[in-house]
Amino acid sequence: MTAPTSRDLTVTEVRLTPVLVADPPLLNTQGVHQPYTPRLIVEVVTADGTTGLGETYGDTKYLELARPLADTLVGRPVGDLNRLFTDADRVAVDASRVLGQVDVGGLRGVQTADKLRLSVLSALEVACLDALGKSLGLPVHALLGGKVRDAVEYSAYLFYKYAAHPDGVAAERDDWGAALDPAGIVAQARTFQERYGFTSFKLKGGVFPPDEEIAAVRALAAAFPGHPLRLDPNGAWSVETSLEVAGELGDVLEYLEDPALGTPAMAEVAARTSVPLATNMCVTTFAEIKEAFTRNAVQVVLSDHHYWGGLRNTQHLAAVCRTFGVGVSMHSNTHLGISLAAMTHVAATVPDLHHACDSHYPWQSEDVLTERLAFEGGTVRVPDAPGLGVTLDRDRLAALHRRWLDDDGSLRDRDDAAAMRVTDPGWVTPAVPRW
Ligand SMILES: [Mg+2]
Repeated sequence: MTAPTSRDLTVTEVRLTPVLVADPPLLNTQGVHQPYTPRLIVEVVTADGTTGLGETYGDTKYLELARPLADTLVGRPVGDLNRLFTDADRVAVDASRVLGQVDVGGLRGVQTADKLRLSVLSALEVACLDALGKSLGLPVHALLGGKVRDAVEYSAYLFYKYAAHPDGVAAERDDWGAALDPAGIVAQARTFQERYGFTSFKLKGGVFPPDEEIAAVRALAAAFPGHPLRLDPNGAWSVETSLEVAGELGDVLEYLEDPALGTPAMAEVAARTSVPLATNMCVTTFAEIKEAFTRNAVQVVLSDHHYWGGLRNTQHLAAVCRTFGVGVSMHSNTHLGISLAAMTHVAATVPDLHHACDSHYPWQSEDVLTERLAFEGGTVRVPDAPGLGVTLDRDRLAALHRRWLDDDGSLRDRDDAAAMRVTDPGWVTPAVPRW
């Protein structure tokens, strides 16, 4: 193989393809997942004909920003990533569409223009690293300094869920059945274990009154003695409720995730319990670290390369956490295999990764890859093929894009409360704290 020249590695085109992906009726404190969720697939093409893949949120506000940010890449070297980020600051964000909005899909705190930019840049960065790796014949983890493990452990992401989306709503059927009580959650966990070998379990809470969710976690502890368990109500509880739950479940929880909303409330909970607190809501940017760490509000930060701005920023976050003795693991929102590959590559490079990462991937029956990534023994093997080690299936991409084109606009922006109103017309997003 001839070494590529700098001319070969110039970005000539960035393709952006929004898709709608089937999503089961998973419940959270704001509502229920819609039957299809938007994602954006990014392809960065270089002069030597190499195509790199990236993936991020696909809601309208991300799509509007993706084009101008992608255009800044064209004509520059595919490895020119630091300047991609500094130049991105000059791309204006329509504040009226962003600021003050609650991100019902991400459940990740107040939105800002910077968060929006970083979420788009993450997909461009991943696609550039994939292209660069393919051109150089190196896996992405090698471009990030090399893997320190050969497989990355993931947790089973348990959800309360309906058996199906409501009658009359076009949707793919899933084969998981309903899970609306402790027995249903345990059955779902057993299915996760049988299919994928997961050994740690996270329950998305904030759906039912805390007593019911305590009973579900107790049932999990009885069914899987000694296994790591987590509960994440997305900030739905008051400080006092958080402390009551921590008191009830302290002997079985690996950590409690965002029991209360915001750093001051989390700090108050943390000061009065020995149960570690994790977050993907009050520490979602570098600017939020100082207050949270100074107040000892969180003991584990759940990184997410989409909203931290890519794989290198995730490594920077891990270094900051290590410096302050704070644990690090990984948050997940609905995503496809491109992002799972990216998560696996970066997680493989983080030395102090002591908790299984979250992933929604088992819930996604559809993908845009020729071959799905596989979980074995609850882990994903770190790909050693060049780039991310995944291959785009153009027919599948076209089919999911066709669904996006055919949509009347009602599903192009994720809205869990709107989906809930289909079955419960009086539903409004609950005020926080809900309990
Ligand atoms: Mg969370």
